[in-house]
Amino acid sequence: MSIAYFDNAASTKVDPRVLDAMLPFFCENYSNPSALHSCAQEARAAVERAREQVAELLGAEDPSEVIFTSCATEANNTVLGTFCGRLLYSAIEHPSVRNLAEGTDRAEAIPVDEEGTIREDAYAEALSRVKPELVSVMSVNNEIGSVQDIDKLGAMAHDAGAHFHSDITQGVGKTELNLSTRPIDYATLSGHKFHAPKGIGVLWARGGSPLKPFMCGGTHESQRRAGTHNVPLIVGMGAAADIIRREGATESARMRDLRTRLIEGVTSKVKDVKVNGQENGAPHIASLSFYRTEGESILINLDARGICCTAGSACSSGRGLGSPILNAIGLEQDWLRGTVRLSLSRFTTEEEVDYLVSSLVAAVEDVRSLAGYANV
Ligand code: PMP
Repeated sequence: MSIAYFDNAASTKVDPRVLDAMLPFFCENYSNPSALHSCAQEARAAVERAREQVAELLGAEDPSEVIFTSCATEANNTVLGTFCGRLLYSAIEHPSVRNLAEGTDRAEAIPVDEEGTIREDAYAEALSRVKPELVSVMSVNNEIGSVQDIDKLGAMAHDAGAHFHSDITQGVGKTELNLSTRPIDYATLSGHKFHAPKGIGVLWARGGSPLKPFMCGGTHESQRRAGTHNVPLIVGMGAAADIIRREGATESARMRDLRTRLIEGVTSKVKDVKVNGQENGAPHIASLSFYRTEGESILINLDARGICCTAGSACSSGRGLGSPILNAIGLEQDWLRGTVRLSLSRFTTEEEVDYLVSSLVAAVEDVRSLAGYANV
């Protein structure tokens, strides 16, 4: 049975072109780019080329603003760990921001509306009352695909004298970047969400912004991130950034069409289904809630049909508490429990979407009939 993969918000396939770019740096040139010999200098040049590729994708003025990290989690932790003052963060941030913030008494969550967008009145009120040093708002949510008005939120943070951080992990290739010209001071991203391997991330920090290293060690990355450069992964990140810079807009439009096909296919055939987030949310994420079903039962049923997806998000699965994101948008328990996240990528085909639609219709019918719920 072939696999239809609809879990791209959790991780994506490495693009074969990215793999090709990485391969020479495993067994041919494996030198440490901080060394002085010519092989090391060649590896160093590859790291710097990747930095330029990422800077170009991000629309960053100066490639030295790009810092390579092990993942977006590390990048998010670095930004939050830089500040000792008050912090505002959206209630739907990834756990690498939310859990850190919840662990301090200096942080306050900004509520979101039922579509998963920041409540601007509450945000404005919190800015003037809390007087934060840092505001952290993700560009695209990983569970429901809601997209924030980062320009407006960032400008409001700056007017209030705060630094502004955006976790753009799910927004790369799907939303506007052009970071240099926008009211953003820090952005964080992860290679494995856009066809580079796992274990490589980027922290973009606008020149002159404060930064406290997360780890203590050598002088790598201009003393901002210690640890030997992971050359193959950095090269992979650069290659993936270059591809998405050239192909992202076309891909994104294709994914949006597939998402519409998926949502229309399911909502026209299944009753009591709700689409979470905004109607025009991120092109690659569809979060669907089926009234009075269990998302995990649907997931297992789909798995048996060769379809990979997630109930809620990979980061909150297995917690047994219900997704904090779905709670934050005020989804009632009877809907929340029956939620599945389906996420697309460059490699998703129309045939796979059609197979997903027919399988999902059958899976919901199975789960509902087992529970004695009258279906379609
Ligand atoms: N932020 C967001 C929005 C994410 O979706 C993820 C991955 N689920 C992360 C951060 C963490 O990324 P990484 O796996 O690179 O730590």
